[in-house]
Amino acid sequence: MLTETEKRTPVWTERESGTGTAAVHGPAGGRRRHAHHALTTPLVQTATYTFDDTADLRAYMEAKMWAPPERGEYGRYGNPTVREVEKRLAALDQGDDALLYPTGMAAITNTLLAILSAGSHVIFTDDCYRKTRHFCSTFLRRFNVASTQVPVGDYAALEAAIRPETRLIVSESPTNPYLRVADLERLASIARRRRVKTMIDATFATPCNVRPLAWGIDLVVHSATKYLAGHNDVMAGVVVGEAGLIHALRQSQGMLGGVLDPHAAFLLERGLKTLDLRVRRHNENGRRVAQFLENHPRVERVWYPGLPSHPDHEIARTQMAGFGGVVTFTVAPRPGQTALEAASRLIDATTIPYIAPSLGGVESLIEQPAIMSYYELSAEERAAIGIPDNLVRFAAGIEETEDLIADLAQALNES
Ligand SMILES: *Cc1c(COP(=O)(O)O)cnc(C)c1O
Repeated sequence: MLTETEKRTPVWTERESGTGTAAVHGPAGGRRRHAHHALTTPLVQTATYTFDDTADLRAYMEAKMWAPPERGEYGRYGNPTVREVEKRLAALDQGDDALLYPTGMAAITNTLLAILSAGSHVIFTDDCYRKTRHFCSTFLRRFNVASTQVPVGDYAALEAAIRPETRLIVSESPTNPYLRVADLERLASIARRRRVKTMIDATFATPCNVRPLAWGIDLVVHSATKYLAGHNDVMAGVVVGEAGLIHALRQSQGMLGGVLDPHAAFLLERGLKTLDLRVRRHNENGRRVAQFLENHPRVERVWYPGLPSHPDHEIARTQMAGFGGVVTFTVAPRPGQTALEAASRLIDATTIPYIAPSLGGVESLIEQPAIMSYYELSAEERAAIGIPDNLVRFAAGIEETEDLIADLAQALNES
């Protein structure tokens, strides 16, 4: 018989192994006892928490002044189901702690609001999630926060944009839709030298493919709506980083009020248990679809960081364990077709992927950025920001690779 302590001794450490075990069991040593001997994390669906008597309440209030409380007080200040999922996400990204939000955008905007103040300056890279760029360039400006956009991959421009009042560099890796991969070590070292914090949106990578904190980045955010939850049925966002920073963000969250619902956290944890398995298949599907498209005569160009033709392939190879499920490409119009029609017809001719925004779920999705994301712009305006009309984004799900390729092959022939 093992003693209680021996039973709790971790047999793995997240730092050495991959993400598979941490995704299933949570942090090393994470064989916790749950209420009612439940194997799964119980869904604690409550808005508030009770105290036995006034002495119990006083003891809680006293303890809370010195350390983050382990028990519940009120739903906006924490929930045990949400907390367990946060610990699991921290372990996956090898961070001290994590904080969940109701959406990926809530994670990003709340973090920026907590770190920046009037008069400060933020740098973000282009080819970032469009709403993040908008938030920096329009919303934050109203609060007298200045921002500068620099081209992704241009480290001289990045360094030149740093001012004495710069607080934060925001980037994404891989980016959307061109899957540009930032050299995280280089980015982190430039920022550290100038005492600027760094935040990377690693939604497209997942902790299975890259762990930005290990390269010196301060904060990593994910739209957990995508691969982490993985089933297109729940929205969530997470920020992972050093304990002090996450603690400060948690304090702001209690005030700003954007907390994750425990039921969403329960669904997210269920999704996380198969993250490692799913991402392996997404990686395989992405890589094989990208290779197929690159060799197809109707395809003009393919962007996939796993292909040697991608501008960031070399850095992706050293930094990433896999390259994800998203593949972006341009399709050649047939004689008489416009570029817009060429992509629309191809998309309409596919039979497996659904036409929908988003990515990272088990179902493959396909979209034409010119229509899905940039409809309000003219073709000239889209061309000026680098979104050609015949661009297609394919987000591979976890279906059989051969089926996805066969479907794309027939759609390319038929359209
Ligand atoms: C989807 C997405 C977001 C926003 O996340 P939501 O959960 O939709 O709010 C942010 N960044 C990236 C890279 C995304 O793909």
